[in-house]
Amino acid sequence: MTDSVAVIGAGPGGLITARWLSAQGFEVTIFESGTELGGQWTGAPGRSGVWPDMHANTSRILTAFSDLSHDGTATFPSNRDVHHYLRRYAEMFDLVPRYGAEVLRLSRGWIVETSNGSEQFDRVVVASGRFQSPVIPAVPGLDTFAGEVGSTFAFRDPDRYRGKRVLVAGCAVSALEIATANARMHGLENRIRLLESDLLGAVEGERFDAIVSNPPYIPESDRSSLHAQVREYEPASALFAGVDGLAIYERLIPQAYAALKRDGLLAMEIGSGQREAIAALLGGWEDVRFVDDLQGIPRVALAKRAD
Ligand SMILES: Cc1cc2nc3c(=O)[nH]c(=O)nc-3n(C[C@H](O)[C@H](O)[C@H](O)COP(=O)(O)OP(=O)(O)OC[C@H]3O[C@@H](n4cnc5c(N)ncnc54)[C@H](O)[C@@H]3O)c2cc1C
Repeated sequence: MTDSVAVIGAGPGGLITARWLSAQGFEVTIFESGTELGGQWTGAPGRSGVWPDMHANTSRILTAFSDLSHDGTATFPSNRDVHHYLRRYAEMFDLVPRYGAEVLRLSRGWIVETSNGSEQFDRVVVASGRFQSPVIPAVPGLDTFAGEVGSTFAFRDPDRYRGKRVLVAGCAVSALEIATANARMHGLENRIRLLESDLLGAVEGERFDAIVSNPPYIPESDRSSLHAQVREYEPASALFAGVDGLAIYERLIPQAYAALKRDGLLAMEIGSGQREAIAALLGGWEDVRFVDDLQGIPRVALAKRAD
């Protein structure tokens, strides 16, 4: 007798599971609570964190199953491309989910309950996804912040932020995409370029009039003495720079020298007590100057490319 399988969810995980179980002779039923297949890639408000301009950060080769290629040529497909791909995939393998069929309860045996009643299956695969709701970390003070706090999960339309000062927290591709959408809305897309880059790696060969940086500069050895709000809630990669805190400057300063035009300016925030070490790293630069912060601690290093 053929084993019956309930697959819960018609996102990429549920679809690929259903396709291969069917190929192995299982009798598969796909339960999908939404009204279309594709999971996150539907962009459906309230159940997907994907926004209209979002592109995959995995290439089209990686964002594909082994038995069907994308029909487009974009290296990083848009969310619509991926959704279109998943619909083609389902069509090709005759995968027809039951829509509006939210699984409310699952009990051993295996009994699958939806609002339409209960059904028994030999096996169950839960492919209900991990990103159905936003996660906002507990940042001290956030609960008393008077402005609006949101998650990219709910981001759909940059117009909603018109005329407002917006801080996008996060240093990965999603934050860059949203900052880009906001720049476009303000008509600044020709003046601002947002790139994900290890220091100046993404602009190799280009020349600039000025380079401004606020890099991580805290020595690893200071970790335990940091205020808990910083130590516990800021990403370590945004704070620490090797045993002496100079690791990023040691890489950035020569890269900046190569990337600046003649007389080009380098401006960097520096850590407390780093003035002498930074001055040594800036040997060979011109007009090296330090600007104090309000506590009288040298906080900004300025230097010009000499030739
Ligand atoms: C902003 C964002 C960007 C991403 N970018 C990429 C990327 O570039 N590349 C990449 O590979 N991945 C990316 N992902 C990860 C993405 O989640 C996966 O690509 C993929 O969608 C996971 O597939 P899944 O089937 O496991 O889950 P989902 O896509 O979440 O699908 C789960 C499905 O289960 C259904 N469901 C849930 N509960 C029930 C229930 N009780 N009953 C019935 N149905 C139910 C949901 O409605 C949904 O359709 C991104 C995710 C987000 C949020």
